[in-house]
Amino acid sequence: MLDIQFIRDNRDTLQEVAIAKGLQVDMGRLIQVDEARRAELRKRETLRQQRNQTSKEVALLAGCGQADGPEAAQLKSQVRIINEDLADVEARWNALQAEYDALMLLVPNIVSPDTPQGASDADNVEIRRVGELPHFGFDSLDHVTLGERLDLIDIPRGVKVGGSRSYYLKNGGLYLHRAVQQLAIDLLTQRGFTVMDVPVMVREEALNHTGFFPGGESQTYRLPADDLWLVGTAEAPLVSYFSDDIVDVSDPIRIAGVSNCYRREAGSAGRDVRGLYRVHQFAKVEQVVLCENDLEVAEGLLNEITQNAEDLLQALELPYRVVAVCTGDMSQKNYKQYDIETWMPSRNAYGETHSSSLLLDFQARRSNIRYRDKNGQLQFCYTLNNTAVASPRILIPLLEVHQQEDGSIRIPKALEPYMNTVTLG
Ligand code: AMP
Repeated sequence: MLDIQFIRDNRDTLQEVAIAKGLQVDMGRLIQVDEARRAELRKRETLRQQRNQTSKEVALLAGCGQADGPEAAQLKSQVRIINEDLADVEARWNALQAEYDALMLLVPNIVSPDTPQGASDADNVEIRRVGELPHFGFDSLDHVTLGERLDLIDIPRGVKVGGSRSYYLKNGGLYLHRAVQQLAIDLLTQRGFTVMDVPVMVREEALNHTGFFPGGESQTYRLPADDLWLVGTAEAPLVSYFSDDIVDVSDPIRIAGVSNCYRREAGSAGRDVRGLYRVHQFAKVEQVVLCENDLEVAEGLLNEITQNAEDLLQALELPYRVVAVCTGDMSQKNYKQYDIETWMPSRNAYGETHSSSLLLDFQARRSNIRYRDKNGQLQFCYTLNNTAVASPRILIPLLEVHQQEDGSIRIPKALEPYMNTVTLG
């Protein structure tokens, strides 16, 4: 959500951003509704003042023993008419306010001046590549074949039990899945993050306040009997932890959530159907940062949380690249976004494994998260988030890049302590 004055002043720019982000919102209608709603508010104030004044006059007449006189009767009839007008004004205001509230939730965040323009992920701009691509002197296998041969992954039984895009992780597959998460938890703890296990069943307001709704309902599993939703990322419960709070961000708040994530992947039929790339349930360690509303500080933190993810990938000895995400591939709430894509030999391409985002005060306004600035004034915070690691997608490069000619998988040194001597083949 943006400040309405900012929206009034930047209406055309915001309409262009909405188009660039592929969002449907009529800024003209919002401005119109805002003006109409404020006009009704002014009318309400005037009518209330008139009613108070007229009621006082009736009381004065009553004080002089003229409560039932013709003058009082006329004034009382005026009060009745004012009350009827007030009811009309309130009804109109209620309808306009509801439309205003709904439209405000659709307005996109602005984008940073250095965000590339583009229609889809094909227009994202590579910033850097890190690590050497593997060259196999043998016929390399994809993660599904490797996982089946080594009894690490069972997709057919996953589908039998859980439907499409379901899987079982077994033996070393399970250890690897948990090892990458524990490595991420340990790294973030060392770097000053408060780590949390978070609720994955949340109230609708947590998703509204963090900018997933409206818009993300079709991607989200609903639990109607309990009026709850299953989160697609720990970002929602992590940010909502602070909703309605006045926080201290003199030192930025760094928190990380460990959770299962659930995504319906509606509209993805036929995409990435083989293997573990696009599944309905996965685990993620997610970084969230809250800071003061200072762009320089926030940009520094965006680099910091991106670097945390890069350090993890380097510890996993995986080649990756960082891309600046373009307008058309950016969600409503983001101001600036980097994706990290890790090399996946079976795709012969880099595949997205991390998303690092700066949202300015977009989420904090919706969630009502404020801090006191140096002058004691309340301000909305800036929020940021990035994946630390998401598994099983990260198992794809781990298995494929580190496969050996003898059919086994080399375990990167950084993961050894977490594997508890379990080997992969
Ligand atoms: P996002 O929260 O959408 O930015 O996604 C963060 C990361 O979660 C992605 O970069 C992937 O590594 C992982 N991820 C997202 N959706 C899925 C999915 N359907 N299946 C597996 N991993 C996913």
